[in-house]
This record gives sequence, C-alpha cells and structure tokens, in this order.
Amino acid sequence: MWRAAAVRTLRGARSGAGALRAASGAAAAQLRRRLESELEDIRGAGTWKSERVIASRQGPHLRLADGGAGIINFCANNYLGLSSHPEVIRAAVEALEKFGAGLSSVRFICGTQSIHKDLEEKIARFHQREDAILYASCFDANAGIFEALLTPEDAVLSDELNHASIIDGIRLCKANKYRYRHMDMQDLEAKLKEAQKHRLRLVATDGAFSMDGDIAPLREICQLAQKYDALVFIDECHATGFLGPNGRGTDELLGVMDKVTIINSTLGKALGGAAGGYTTGPKPLIDLLRQRSRPYLFSNSLPPAVVGCASKALDLLMESNAIAQSMAAKTQRFRSKMTAAGFTISGKDHPICPVMLGDARLASVMAEDMLNRGIYVIGFSYPVVPKGKARIRVQISAVHSDEDIDRCVEAFTQVGRKHGALP
Ligand code: PLP
Repeated sequence: MWRAAAVRTLRGARSGAGALRAASGAAAAQLRRRLESELEDIRGAGTWKSERVIASRQGPHLRLADGGAGIINFCANNYLGLSSHPEVIRAAVEALEKFGAGLSSVRFICGTQSIHKDLEEKIARFHQREDAILYASCFDANAGIFEALLTPEDAVLSDELNHASIIDGIRLCKANKYRYRHMDMQDLEAKLKEAQKHRLRLVATDGAFSMDGDIAPLREICQLAQKYDALVFIDECHATGFLGPNGRGTDELLGVMDKVTIINSTLGKALGGAAGGYTTGPKPLIDLLRQRSRPYLFSNSLPPAVVGCASKALDLLMESNAIAQSMAAKTQRFRSKMTAAGFTISGKDHPICPVMLGDARLASVMAEDMLNRGIYVIGFSYPVVPKGKARIRVQISAVHSDEDIDRCVEAFTQVGRKHGALP
C-alpha cells in the first residue's frame, strides 16, 4: 500500500521536476555557460587546483590511487603523525561504538554528549584557560567569534596575511576594521592609536602563518596591546600541539600565555587530524558564544568518532612532551640541510618550510618532478601567495625519519639543478 503511494509520489515528482526543468532551462543553460567560462579562466590563469587521490591512510608514506606507492609525504598538516596513530584510531572506534555515528542535532537541542563536555574541559586545561567551545571546524570558530563579540562601538586590528577564515569572520562583524602590515609593529601601533576612540580593541593574528612558516611577534604584540588597552586573539592552527616546550602553542613558545585572551585552533591538523575546531578563553566569552555564535548554534554537533580522536591526541600530548619535542629536531635537520644545499627557506624554526623559488612555473614543474622521484610536495603561486613569490611548501612531521628528510633534500638538490634553481 505505502509502496504504491510512494511510486505515485515519485512519478508525480518526476513529472513535476521535468516541468520545472523545462521552465528554467534557459537560465540553467546560461548558468552553465557562465560557469564553464569561469572555469576556463581559472585554467587559463594557471591557478587550477587538482586533487591527488590517496589510497592509503594519512601518514609520512602514502599510496596514491593512480598507482604511486611508497611516496614520502611532505604536504600534510599531520605535524605530530597522530592522524594514523593506533591509539587515536582505537579511541575513535570506541567512541563510535559507545556514542553512535552522530547526533543529528545541534548542541543546544539534543546534541551534547558527555564526550563533548569532556573534550571542552580538556582543551581548556591544555591551554590553561577557563573554558572552551567546540565547532565543526576552526573555519567555523573564526567565522563565529568576531560577530558575536564585537559591535559597531568596537574595533578589530588584523594582520594583512591572516588566514582567509579570520578575514571572513571579520567581514561578518560590524566592528571598525583596521588592517596592519604583516608583522609590522610600527604599523600596528599607528593603527592602535587611531583605534583609541573605540570602546574595545581586539588585535587578531595567526600565531604561525601557514604560507611563510613565520611566527607572529606575540611578545611585541602583547606589549602594544597592554600599552593601548587592547585584547589579543590568536589563531593557533599551525602551532597547537607542537610549538613551545609543551606544545601549547605560540603563546607558550614566546612566554605570553597570560597575555593572550582568546585562542582559536583546529582539531584537524596536529591534534589527530580528523576535523573540528574550538575557541578557548574567559568563561563569559565562551558562555556568550554558546548563545550567539551562529556556526555553533546552527550546525550539527561534532561526531563522536571525531571527538574520540581529538580527546586521545590531547591525552597523549598531556602525558608527555616527547612528541612535540621530536618535531623541532626534524625541522632543524631539513632547514639546515636545504640551506647548505643553496636553497632559501622562508620562516624560522617552524615545520612549515617554504622553499622560495619566485617563478610560478618553476615551482609547479619542480613539484611535479619531485613526485616523479617519490616526494610529495606542493607548489604555491599567485593568488595564494604574492606574485613573484612562488614556492614549494614542505611540511615536516614528527614521524618523518631522518632518512625521509635526507631523501627529500637529495631530490630537491637534483631537481633544483635540473631546472636551474640551483647552480
Ligand atoms: N586557520 C588557519 C590558520 C588555517 O590554516 C586553517 C586551515 O587551513 C583554518 C583556520 C581552518 O581550520 P579547519 O580546517 O579546522 O577549518
């Protein structure tokens, strides 16, 4: 009976959908033409991003779906190698079995389980803050914080090279916006002076910048913030878990944990790599975000398996700082060997090691040739980085062996000579 009704409904929908399609045919065709022309422009500009398909787990060694095996991977944000750590995977399986596939709900309706509360408490403890709130991603955390916190009476001062999600989050808020030159403290001071007329000032910066591997001068930023009565917000996606003596991040590295007010970060990089993001900071701020932050209020809860991964990753990091420390020696090995080989590596002491090449075509052909030699790296050019500053970004992981790193340097040296990047 229900089956016959369902078939009738389906038939009706099909004929309805057909009629609709006919009515909107011209618009759809016009849209298709416009999209195809835009796609052609992207291809023509040489900025088309294609996706390589991986047929194995994330890790230092990969198998690609098109047959490449034994590839050494230098382009994941898997800084601590926890993405495929056996304990992290086991924790995900246990959480999946105990708490199910997902919540089918936002947090405030019926989407909060004990593991969500436990993870929030753990994140706050890890960063030594009062409280924390989970999001589906750090992109969401950045999209949700500025609008909830700042009004037209306030001001936000943002580094010009901040991540796209900070830029978008700031766009959504109605505060007065100031953009200071990248890590330029004179310019920040000038902007802070100008912003004195507003009720509240918030300086927003990436802790570590993902395209250059450089670390924000947080000590100086915090001094200026103190002088001009401002708050400091940092995005720690490329720092949480491995920068600082205990991997707490840029604020720990630079000794300003008690001067930074708000931290946003991701669970999708060093902390197990599954997905998810968070804000941690003063309790009233977290309470307010639970009431007002739109990506939190109007999006599904983090799935239990994802929560399980991040929770275990944090346990591992809080038990011992050995994993975080192993990162630094590997980074140092790569940076010093590449510099000795004649390459310019941007940034300092960070596992993001951009090999600066300048020319976009050179970066792209060298990256392709590196893959032919079993080394997976990615070339970045305009508009992702400024014109004339194309590079190949190498990311070191704690689970790379010394031999992996030496093979990468050797391949760069050969490929660099072949394509004229080295004499
Ligand atoms: N902030 C920075 C600096 C990032 O690099 C990224 C990810 O690329 C994000 C935010 C977004 O993080 P998520 O992947 O958790 O959305």
